[in-house]
Amino acid sequence: MENVYRKCLAAMLLLVGIQGAMGDYKPEALANGGADPSLHLQQSSKQTEAQQINEVIYKATGFGNTFMVVTEEGNVIVDTSMANVAPLHKKLLSAVNSGPVHSIILTHGHGDHTGGVELWRQPKTKVIAQENMVEFLHYQKRLEGMFNRSNRAQFGFDLQSELQPTTQVENFSATILPNTLFEEELNFTLGGKIFQVLHTPAETYDALTVWMPQYKAAFVGDLFYESFPNIYTLRGTKPRWALDYISSLNRVIALEPEILLPSHGKSIKGKENIRKALTRYRDAIQYVHDKTVTGMNQGKDVYALMREIHLPDELNVGESYGWVSWSVRGIFEGYKGWFDGNPVTMYDQSPESVYGDLVALAGGADKVVILAKPLLEKGDNVKALRLVEAALVAEPGNRGALKLRLQALTKLRKNASNLNESGWLNFGIQQTKRQLDFGVKTK
Ligand SMILES: [Zn+2]
Repeated sequence: MENVYRKCLAAMLLLVGIQGAMGDYKPEALANGGADPSLHLQQSSKQTEAQQINEVIYKATGFGNTFMVVTEEGNVIVDTSMANVAPLHKKLLSAVNSGPVHSIILTHGHGDHTGGVELWRQPKTKVIAQENMVEFLHYQKRLEGMFNRSNRAQFGFDLQSELQPTTQVENFSATILPNTLFEEELNFTLGGKIFQVLHTPAETYDALTVWMPQYKAAFVGDLFYESFPNIYTLRGTKPRWALDYISSLNRVIALEPEILLPSHGKSIKGKENIRKALTRYRDAIQYVHDKTVTGMNQGKDVYALMREIHLPDELNVGESYGWVSWSVRGIFEGYKGWFDGNPVTMYDQSPESVYGDLVALAGGADKVVILAKPLLEKGDNVKALRLVEAALVAEPGNRGALKLRLQALTKLRKNASNLNESGWLNFGIQQTKRQLDFGVKTK
């Protein structure tokens, strides 16, 4: 299973502005590594009818899946995918049953789950979410400028246009999508079908699971997908607590589901299959968490732990979306914050502030490039890149340094089998090419 890459593009869709440019994203190196993150988009655009999961549950596949539960008193929608896929999903699912939409249940507040809410919403529709979604939506709106910037870098959208800097702070101005909130659990029966909505925080603190006890079906949102989870995402996030994932996975495992319906990728059927998959996932997270905590208590630094901690074979769930080393750092800094215990870090001068002096001492950027080249040749790509970064602080337009930066990033990109890593490498490559062509650095 770990060889089958199923991407969670969870964060991808936070922002409305990038969606039109999604077709431009070409993850070539992922294809080289056997992973193709555009797979879901292609699948969804080719899907001509909704997939029937059982007698009442139907699924439209996308970056984010949309589910519909059909009852005689109206239908329940679980997640609504991203805004530009939602019309197709609605068409496919409405073709199965066009009854009134009694409820829309949102497994969390990321844009690839909430994009179609207004399309599905009818005057009497309940839009159900865990109460923490309110703050989560405000958080995303509050930092919209930052998220726009990092999302477009991470996912390769429209790198050429300049973003307008945001000067207005809007702390509590998000559009609140849900009209029905709960704290721990919300139960209702519709057309004889029982729905239990449970708070299962993980990737976000508003995450929920929908449990249908009569069918032993669990809609788990992003609590499970076929890669190690994104316990930290490079585009920016509040801490995502590993122990929340574990307690939420335990809550779902205890239900003994026979149908597991993640919001990204394939559904899983069979009690034993599901128990095994969820248990392994939980244990992989527990392993990384506990190794990180052990290292922290031993006084190890975060980089050492990022290098040291790897999943053992029996827990190797793949790293095509989340990456263990980022999760190690996410757990470490989630618990400890940014201070590394070195007195110099207390002050407002970055390590880069002395690069210029050191490069001058070495005889200039060209000399540093000479030092970096053999490192790149023997595959020490990241160290070569570090040296080049120093050279470029000293001499930002140095063409030798820019060319070496481009080579190092391209080499890393060729070997990348993680979607998010590839995105940021693409960003660096395009940024460096633009500097070589026009002498302009893309922020
Ligand atoms: Zn998602």
